[in-house]
Amino acid sequence: MSRILSAEGVTFEFTVPVVVIGGGAAGMIAALAAHERGAEALVLERDALPQGSTALSAGLIPAPGTRWQRAAGIEDSAERFAADIIAKAKGEPDPADVSRVSRAVGPALEWLADRYGLPFSVVDNFTYPGHSARRMHGLPSRSGAELIDRLRGAVEAAGIDVLCEAQVTALYAEGPRVRGVEVTRPDGSVERVGCAALILACNGYGGNRALVERHVPELADALYFGHPGNQGDALLWGEALGAATRHLSGHQGHGSVAHPAGILVTWATVTEGGVQVNTEGKRFSNEAQGYSEQAAVVLRQPDGIAWTVFDERIAAVARQFEDFRQAEAMGAVLSADSPADLARLMKVDADALAATLAEVGRLKAAGGSDGFGRSFAGSAPLVAPYRAVRVTGALFHTQGGLVVDDGARVVSGEGAPLPNLYAAGGAACGVSGSKASGYLSGNGLLTAVALGRIAGAAAADAVAADAVKEESNQ
Ligand SMILES: Cc1cc2nc3c(=O)[nH]c(=O)nc-3n(C[C@H](O)[C@H](O)[C@H](O)COP(=O)(O)OP(=O)(O)OC[C@H]3O[C@@H](n4cnc5c(N)ncnc54)[C@H](O)[C@@H]3O)c2cc1C
Repeated sequence: MSRILSAEGVTFEFTVPVVVIGGGAAGMIAALAAHERGAEALVLERDALPQGSTALSAGLIPAPGTRWQRAAGIEDSAERFAADIIAKAKGEPDPADVSRVSRAVGPALEWLADRYGLPFSVVDNFTYPGHSARRMHGLPSRSGAELIDRLRGAVEAAGIDVLCEAQVTALYAEGPRVRGVEVTRPDGSVERVGCAALILACNGYGGNRALVERHVPELADALYFGHPGNQGDALLWGEALGAATRHLSGHQGHGSVAHPAGILVTWATVTEGGVQVNTEGKRFSNEAQGYSEQAAVVLRQPDGIAWTVFDERIAAVARQFEDFRQAEAMGAVLSADSPADLARLMKVDADALAATLAEVGRLKAAGGSDGFGRSFAGSAPLVAPYRAVRVTGALFHTQGGLVVDDGARVVSGEGAPLPNLYAAGGAACGVSGSKASGYLSGNGLLTAVALGRIAGAAAADAVAADAVKEESNQ
């Protein structure tokens, strides 16, 4: 449904200076930033309640040099964060893209806290793979549902209109300049809304099977764990308007979605010293590399299934996440006092599991590395009572997208910015490069928060500048 129509001769029912498509974190933050800079903004959201993938996420946002880090004695900087992002993606992302978001995200979180009362705190009791400092920030419940609820509350309190059940089905353009959008309501009725600037905050193409097959074929049959409304509209519109795209095969997978419960099991279960075994009770990988690339690795195991095995100490760390508490409440987390009892519950070969755990115990005691390259140095032993969760690999969201400049303006194939089109969050090219392994934890909300604020402010400023120009021409 992502069409571009000619704006010639079209009358719009009403016109709003800044229209934002998508009511996830990127869209809500863009609307707040635009409103603050004096522009009237309108958020158009296809669902009855704005949630997006943001609501499905753990709501954890990486940010360097924040006051919460300083209070916890954590040393960090935008440069250090940028180096971590680039190292994880093996030098693939554009350094300018990385620098832009790593510098903007800390101030953006402090702004959301100070101005809109979002009570962030830093996760200071474990380190995500690839982060050289503890810099994940979250709200009290550590859930994306709380993040989107609080952002929606802030938008409503600011008096910004959010039109729900309002799917944008086409853009009206004159050449590369967008003049407005076509909104289709659930009853099939159509409205035309004009705009001076358009912000694409409608995420990536994870929910579009054909686009996933084309760009991320290794996860074509994987469970899609993101928001189904993310159909790649931003990508398709951008391409049709001549926008540059980059790293379309990039994505975030996750190798730890409880199956069949369908709940995310925090990767702290692994980083804190847990391991994954297949249905034969054997380890099959260096799980510690990262949860994103682990999705395809788990899917290559028999039945696409693995068991994450850990212990009560690790479960206690994981319990700070609502998802994990839910998984426990649903009975997805098995518990046993011995490897043999655990194997019985898991229905895997008891001797194989016992041998695997004994080997892990030896590696931990010696601080050695295994044949897959995982180092167990400094890793506490796994002790009874043991825990296990049956998991599968899933696609969470895509990381490729529209190329943007320092003002989050969408850039054409020739490198010049399109006149009035902006992209933020999953609609824009992320900073993860072209592979799942390039995804550093938090890269998703990083671009939603950082680019959302940049896009909103830049769109409002551009609209104001255009208005001044028009006035002086009259
Ligand atoms: C299970 C899970 C866990 C995650 N955990 C984390 C995490 O802890 N940290 C992190 O950084 N990232 C995480 N992510 C990624 C993160 O959720 C996304 O990167 C982020 O939410 C993207 O925000 P967004 O605003 O761009 O998109 P979304 O939140 O998906 O919002 C896009 C909105 O656009 C709407 N929309 C789409 N098309 C249209 C249209 N044509 N018209 C109108 N509306 C439209 C959709 O309905 C949706 O509401 C996770 C993702 C998943 C799936």
